[in-house]
Amino acid sequence: MRDFSADHRWLSINTATVRRQRGQDWPLLQILDACAARGIRAVSPWRDQVAAAGLAATARTLRAHGLELSGYCRGGLFTYSDDAGRQAARDDNRRALDEACELGAPCLVLVVGGLPGALAGAPAHKDIAAARAQVAEGIARLLADAHERAMPLAIEPLHPMYAADRACINTLEQALDLCDALDPARSGALGVALDVYHCWWDPKLAAMIERAGRERLLAYHVCDWRLPTRDLLEDRGMPGDGVIDLPRIRALVEAQGYAGYAEVEIFSSRDWWQRDGGETLDTCIERHRRCV
Ligand code: ZN
Repeated sequence: MRDFSADHRWLSINTATVRRQRGQDWPLLQILDACAARGIRAVSPWRDQVAAAGLAATARTLRAHGLELSGYCRGGLFTYSDDAGRQAARDDNRRALDEACELGAPCLVLVVGGLPGALAGAPAHKDIAAARAQVAEGIARLLADAHERAMPLAIEPLHPMYAADRACINTLEQALDLCDALDPARSGALGVALDVYHCWWDPKLAAMIERAGRERLLAYHVCDWRLPTRDLLEDRGMPGDGVIDLPRIRALVEAQGYAGYAEVEIFSSRDWWQRDGGETLDTCIERHRRCV
C-alpha cells in the first residue's frame, strides 16, 4: 500500500467539501486557487459549481494550475415517470459527458436515481424493481454515448438509506452485476466509484473489491462515518473522526492495482461547512497523510 504520510500527492478534493463555507457559496474558481496554493493536485468538481463558474473558465483555471480531475460529479438520475422525463435524463447525461470531456475528467460519476419524483418529495410509485430496470436501461444507452467520447462511466452505489430518493443501486455487488451485464468484456468504459461512506459496512466489501479488480475501480472516495450521525445527507465526518477503517479499505483497493487519487468528499452542514474553507482544506491534507 502506498505511504501517504509524507506528502499529499494522491489527495483529491471533491469540491462539495468546501462548497458553502459559513453560509456562503465558495466560488469554484476560488476553491481551485486555494487547492493549487496548497499543492493539492486534483479535484472533483460538481456540475452546479461548474455551471456557476462557467465551463470554459473552469477548464482554463484547471489548466493554469495544472490541476487534474479525479472524477466529475455527476451524471445519472436515470429514473423517470414519463417519456419527457426519460428524454430529459438522456439529454442531461449527454451534456454531463460533454462537460466531463471538456474538463479532462477520467470518468463521469453516476448517482443513478431512486423512485422517480422522490427526490422532489413526490414519488410516482413504490416499485423499486422498476426503478432499477430504468437505471439499467439508462446506463446501457449512455454507455454508447460514453464510448463515442471515450469517457468512462463510474457507477457510485449509495448507502441503502438513499435508495428511495437518490440511488437504487446500493451495494458494490449490485453495481458490479450491472457492469458485467452491460460491459462483459471489462473494456474500461464502465466501472464503479467506491465511496467508503456508502460501502464500509458491507459484509461483501472485500470480496466485491476483489471482483471489481483494477478495470472496474475508477474512483475512490473517502470521508468518515460519524457517531452519532445527525443528518442523513450532510453529516459526513472528516477522515479519522469516525468508525470507518480507512487504511484497511485502501489496502484492499490498492491490492487490486488501484493507484489513483483518494478523493475527500464531505458534506457537513454542521461542522466542516461552518469553517473557513482554507481550514477545511488544511485539515483534509493533514488527515489524508495521517488517517486515509
Ligand atoms: Zn462519493
